[in-house]
Amino acid sequence: MSAYKFDTQRLRAGYEPAQHNQAVSPPIYATASYDLRDVAHAASLFGIREVGNLYTRVGNPTVNVLEERVAALDGAAGAIALASGMAAITYTLLNIAEGGGRILTSPYLYGGSADSFKKLYPKFGIAFDYAKHILEPAKLAEEIRPDTKAIFVESISNPNTYLLDTDAIAKVAHAHGIPLIVDNTVATPYLYRPFEHGSDVIVYSATKGLNGHGNLIGGLVLESGKFEWSRLPQFNEKYYTLRTLDGEKRSFLERLPDFPFTGRIRFNYLNYFGAALSPFDAYLAIIGIETLSERLAKQSHNAETLANYLVSHPQVEWVRYPTLINDKSHVLYKRDFPNGAGGILSFGFKGTDDEREKFLNAVELIHYHVNIGDARTLIINSPQTTHGELEPGEKLVADIPENLIRISAGLEDPADLIDDLEQAFEAARA
Ligand SMILES: *Cc1c(COP(=O)(O)O)cnc(C)c1O
Repeated sequence: MSAYKFDTQRLRAGYEPAQHNQAVSPPIYATASYDLRDVAHAASLFGIREVGNLYTRVGNPTVNVLEERVAALDGAAGAIALASGMAAITYTLLNIAEGGGRILTSPYLYGGSADSFKKLYPKFGIAFDYAKHILEPAKLAEEIRPDTKAIFVESISNPNTYLLDTDAIAKVAHAHGIPLIVDNTVATPYLYRPFEHGSDVIVYSATKGLNGHGNLIGGLVLESGKFEWSRLPQFNEKYYTLRTLDGEKRSFLERLPDFPFTGRIRFNYLNYFGAALSPFDAYLAIIGIETLSERLAKQSHNAETLANYLVSHPQVEWVRYPTLINDKSHVLYKRDFPNGAGGILSFGFKGTDDEREKFLNAVELIHYHVNIGDARTLIINSPQTTHGELEPGEKLVADIPENLIRISAGLEDPADLIDDLEQAFEAARA
């Protein structure tokens, strides 16, 4: 299967009809548990000598199809699906920094990430440093401290579409023996494949572009198979549950050498913290991914059309979208994003707060709501909603001006979207 190209893999990877009663579409395995064939089979599963179906919290055949499919699209050595993007981020960061340490991160982050980094992780001994030089990776080394455990960034940032040079950031991370984690939610593997740019772990919210229909919450963690996890003591810790038949304790590196990172998340964090993805939602995600390429291509096209319309509009102060020649990410877009820049764009509304409110209340076709990556076009005033938890100084660092309006372009005819924006601008003037 791995010989097939991207567009074939997104339809076929990780699933063989012959193993599922010849069903062409992956079945939903709605079962909490699985019959154990006999006592020896049970012993083998509980001893994790065999990674098989035991209990849906730690694995399910429908969920496995999703994991293998996304792993194929990103060229991952291992993958695990979880109940949300936030669970994917949390388990990843705990798996690396459990016991305490620091994470060097980008200021350009999803609101939920930024807020949890500030409010929750410090209570678990994990502190975050917001890199001043994330756009100039040559200087990033200065910001790595002795107890920095990883670098965490978003490949395309939400809401202001900063693109990052993850090749250069990965080099800095590796020179210091630490992994680079990339949240690739906005890009999806259709637009950007972080393992080809040196990253070690990818996290996704499958809620957004991967699934693309705004009808589930889900997440994934992927590992490249290249990072030397023996650098972190927890990967060398020996567990009784991973013992050999002779009763010798083993570490995750010894037991699951091909995918120790996601394996450790599965058998420790997913097993005991329990954010399992439901098989039904895994099924929806699998169906969504069948049209990933077409959706992301059209959304990128629609976003570019909207950016070009907005850039010359008298009620628009500025537009951020990487295809625009003056955009701060245009050079990286040209270098690293041959398939497009994705569906997210933002603009600064020119006018009073009152006029901005009128504008948002006047959109009719475009949905006013907080999701992204949906098949429908969505609009939101991020600084007051999705990023409303950021304090004024934090918004400054994150470069989210108060008049920013974010659009997540969907699959409609762009002429209808422009008509809708135009009548909303008119309403704001009235
Ligand atoms: C939405 C989002 C998340 C969180 O994902 P959920 O599935 O909503 O938990 C994480 N990162 C980015 C970039 C997101 O857009």
